[in-house]
Order: sequence, then C-alpha cells, then structure tokens
Amino acid sequence: MRNIFRRFKTKKMRIVQNGHPALRRVSAPIAAIDDDVRDLADKMTYTLMHNEIEGVGLAAPQVGVNKRIIVIYTCGGSPKDKSKLSPGEIVLNPLMPVALINPELVSMSQETICSGEGCLSLPGVGGDVVRAARVILKAMLLDGQTVQVECANLLAKCLQHEIDHLDGILFIDKIPAEQLEEAKPALKLMEKEEAKRAK
Ligand SMILES: [Zn+2]
Repeated sequence: MRNIFRRFKTKKMRIVQNGHPALRRVSAPIAAIDDDVRDLADKMTYTLMHNEIEGVGLAAPQVGVNKRIIVIYTCGGSPKDKSKLSPGEIVLNPLMPVALINPELVSMSQETICSGEGCLSLPGVGGDVVRAARVILKAMLLDGQTVQVECANLLAKCLQHEIDHLDGILFIDKIPAEQLEEAKPALKLMEKEEAKRAK
C-alpha cells in the first residue's frame, strides 16, 4: 500500500528533448538503492504513465538525471499467446511498470529485427532501427533482487533503446540517412527550445 501511495503523490518530471546535454552523456552506475533512487524511480514511473504521448519506456537521462535507471511498460506489446512469451516477459510483465537499476545486456542474438521506433524525448520523429531479436538482460530491481533473463518481442527492443539512452545514444543515431535528413528540421527546432530553456 505504501508504495502505491508514494507513487501517486509524486509529481511529473519534465521530459527533456533533443539538444539537452543529459541525453548525450554516459550515465553513472547506481551504487546503492537508497531513498533517492526509490524517489527517482517513483517519479520516473509517474512521468511515463502520465505522459500525453504514450510511451513504453523512460530512461533517467530523459528526465535530466545521468544515472543508470530505466522504467519500462512493454506488457501491452507481448504476444497474446502465453506460450510465446520470453522468460523476461514472464518475470517482468507482472511487475510493470517496473524500474530496472544498472540494466545491462550480457548478450544479444545474431538474429535481428528492423522496426519503427520513436522516443518521448524526440516527439514527432520516427525511424527504422535494426535491433537484436533477443537479449539477455541483467539488472537489479528496487528490492535489491538481481534478475538475469532472456527477453524477446517489444521488451527486447525497448531494453536496447533505453539502455542506449544510458550511454548517450539516441535511436536517430541508428536510422537510415534519408530518414535522419527528413527529421532534421524537427530536431533543430527541439535543440533551439532546449537552448532557450538553458539560458
Ligand atoms: Zn527514447
């Protein structure tokens, strides 16, 4: 009960957009799960779940914090047929939205999938990204438990996108040149807005 109460008392954070320096920094590992980390996870979860544009993941740099924490909510993209769920979906879907601390991909499949992506920090911009079809995720949960599981489907794609954020990488770094060219006016506009805010 306490957790639910905490979650809904917290406020929404501003999602920073293209041009904000936090999006291009490599984020620092979290040394210990303390009240600050729990509070950040609560606020990020609230922000993801109450954003005007529906998102399936949020990384701390997107709220201007360069720490290795992500929140994911990909259960809606899992196969309806439960026999097709990956081990990661079986473990994590019931916990979603779930915060992952110091998430890392310990291995990635050779098999890839190319699909459309967007990002809450780049509203209105989309493009095709090639990602591994399956990944093995290692991460800590807020209760201190470590999980190491194979993930597929939308969960695998989202984890790669969000963990890229922790390394200062955006999905636009991975889209075809002609799609990036198309996105440039929108990206420039966001940069201008962020520069104005920084003054
Ligand atoms: Zn993103």
